[in-house]
Amino acid sequence: MTEPDGTRRAALLTVDDDPGVSRAVARDLRRRYGERYRIVRAESGADGLEALREMKLRGDLVAVILADYRMPNMTGVEFLERAMDIHPGARRVLLTAYADTGAAIDAINVVDLDHYLLKPWDPPEEKLYPVVDDLLEAWLRSDHKPVPETKVVGHRWSARSSGVREFLARNQVPYRWYLSDQAEGKRLLTAAGCDGLRLPLVIAPGGEVLLEPTDQDLAAQVGLSTTPAEEFYDLVVIGGGPAGLGAAVYGASEGLRTVLVERTATGGQAGQSARIENYLGFPDGVSGAQLTDRARRQATRFGAELLTACEATALEVGGPSRTVRFADGTAVSAHSVILTTGVAYRQLDLPGLDELTGRGVYYGSALTEADGCEGQDVFIVGGANSAGQAAVYLSRHAKSVTLLVRGASLEASMSHYLIQQIADIPTITVRTGTRVAGVHGEDHLEGLTLQDTSGRTELVEAQRMFVFIGAAPRTDWLDGVVRRDGHGFVVTGPDLLDDAGRPPLGWEPDRLPYHLETSVPGVFAAGDVRSESAKRVASAVGEGAMAVMLVHRYLEGL
Ligand SMILES: Cc1cc2nc3c(=O)[nH]c(=O)nc-3n(C[C@H](O)[C@H](O)[C@H](O)COP(=O)(O)OP(=O)(O)OC[C@H]3O[C@@H](n4cnc5c(N)ncnc54)[C@H](O)[C@@H]3O)c2cc1C
Repeated sequence: MTEPDGTRRAALLTVDDDPGVSRAVARDLRRRYGERYRIVRAESGADGLEALREMKLRGDLVAVILADYRMPNMTGVEFLERAMDIHPGARRVLLTAYADTGAAIDAINVVDLDHYLLKPWDPPEEKLYPVVDDLLEAWLRSDHKPVPETKVVGHRWSARSSGVREFLARNQVPYRWYLSDQAEGKRLLTAAGCDGLRLPLVIAPGGEVLLEPTDQDLAAQVGLSTTPAEEFYDLVVIGGGPAGLGAAVYGASEGLRTVLVERTATGGQAGQSARIENYLGFPDGVSGAQLTDRARRQATRFGAELLTACEATALEVGGPSRTVRFADGTAVSAHSVILTTGVAYRQLDLPGLDELTGRGVYYGSALTEADGCEGQDVFIVGGANSAGQAAVYLSRHAKSVTLLVRGASLEASMSHYLIQQIADIPTITVRTGTRVAGVHGEDHLEGLTLQDTSGRTELVEAQRMFVFIGAAPRTDWLDGVVRRDGHGFVVTGPDLLDDAGRPPLGWEPDRLPYHLETSVPGVFAAGDVRSESAKRVASAVGEGAMAVMLVHRYLEGL
C-alpha cells in the first residue's frame, strides 16, 4: 500500500449500508483504480468517519468519497458534511436512487457536492468511471501533498508546544506544525477527537495520538531509547553534546561497553548552532544538526547505546562501581563515568519573565522558532557568538532583528567574521550599551523596556526575544560528590592538587589524578562543564576522546 517514496496511496472511500451494494461499488472501483489508489469500504456513516479520521491522523490523502444517500442514523449528505470537516480536499459523490434526485440536488449546496450518481450505474465504463476519472483529474490538479511525518498541533504562545517542537527538532525528528486555531489544525483536532483544551497534540506517522506528551513519551513514540539495555557498563557518559558524543564514539570504537545518557537531545549547545564555521575539516561550515546527526550515527555504528530524555540526578560511589541515578528513579552502574554535561543558558532575571518563557521569550531555541518570526521585529539579547549566529539566521525570516548588547561594542565578545556578516545585513541593528529592564505581555510577549547606560528607558513593541547571555554549568546534583569551582564547573587533574602538589582529601589511589579525572577516581569530566575548559566544539570533542584514553588507563589499574 505504499509508494516507492514511502508515502501511502491516496484513498477512494465508499460508504453504503447495503453490504451487497457496498461490495459492488468497491469491486468496480478496484477494477479500474486499484493499482493507483487504495479502495476503502465502509458500511455505515460512523465507520466511514472513523476510517477518514484514521487516515487523517496517519497523513493519508483521500481523493474521492462516494456516499449512499439513504443510510440509517446518518444520511449520505450528513456524512459528507462531516467528512468535509476532516478531508475538505476530497471530491464528494452522492449515490442516489431516482426517487431521491431532489435531495441530491439540494445537497449540492449543503456539502458542495461534486456529483450525484444514480443507482444502478451499470455499466460502470459508461456511468461510473467517466465521473470518477473527471473527479480524480480535478483532485490531482489541486495541491494535495501527503504529510507522512509527525504532526504537532498547538498554540502559538504555549510554552509546552514550543518545548515539544524543540525536542523533536533537536532530536532531528521531522514534524509539521499546525496552529490549533487554523483550519488544518482544527481538522486534526477533530480527527483525533480532541476539544483543543489540552495541547499540544502530537500525531505520530502511524496515526497514534499523544496529548501534552512529556519528553519521555515523545522519545518512546519516535523510537528513541530512554532506558538502558544493561545494568552494568564499562563507561557511562553523561551528556550528549560534542564532548559526550566524542567520548561515546571513542569509547565504543575501542571496545568499551558504553552508554551515553542525554537529558534532552544529543548535540548539546552545538546542536543549536545554525552554522559552526571553525570546526576542523569543514571549510564551508557545518550546521549543528548535521554534525550531531553524523556523530550520533557514528557512535551508534560503533555500538554505543544512546539514551534520550534521560536526566542524571545523582552519582553514587560504591567501591569500584559508579552508579548514576536518573530522574525517573532508575539507575545504571559502570566501572567509569565521563561527565560531559556542558553548560546551559543563563536565565535573565526580570519580574514576569518566567511566565513569558516559551511564549515569546526563548533561550537558545532560535532555530525552532524561526518560522514564527516571519515578518516580525525580533530582539536578541547578548553579544557573544551564539547571539551573533542567531541574529544572522533569524534575519532570513524576521522583518528586523535588533541585537541588544550590554557592552560598548561587539569586538570584545564576538568573532570578527560574525561581526562582518552582521554589518553586511541591512535588517540587523546592533544596539550597544543597552539592557532589557522589563518585559511586558499578558499571555505572550508584547513589549520590552530597554535601558541605556545613562539610565534612560524606552518601551518597544516586541513579540519575540531570544536570550543568549552566557551560560552556566548545572552541576548542583554533583554537590558533595565531585569537587566544583566557585562557578559550579568540575575541577579536574592538576587543578585538584593543593599548593604542595598533594591530591584532594579522601583521594585513595597511590597516584595523582589523571589530567581529566575529577576528585572521584574513575569519574572524568570533559568539555564545557570542566573548569578552565576552552568552550569550543573542537576542544570538547578532543577532551571527550582524551577522557576515554584516561578511562582505559584507569581500568588497567583496577
Ligand atoms: C548557539 C551556539 C553556537 C555556538 N557556535 C560555536 C562555534 O561556531 N564554534 C565553536 O567552537 N563553539 C561554538 N559554540 C560553543 C560549543 O557549542 C560548546 O563549546 C560545545 O557544545 C560544548 O560541548 P559539551 O559537550 O561540553 O557541552 P554541551 O554542548 O553543553 O552539551 C551538554 C549536554 O549535556 C546534557 N546534560 C546536561 N545535564 C545533564 C544531565 N544531568 N543528565 C543528562 N544530560 C545532561 C545537555 O542537555 C547537553 O545536551 C556555540 C554554542 C552555542 C550555544
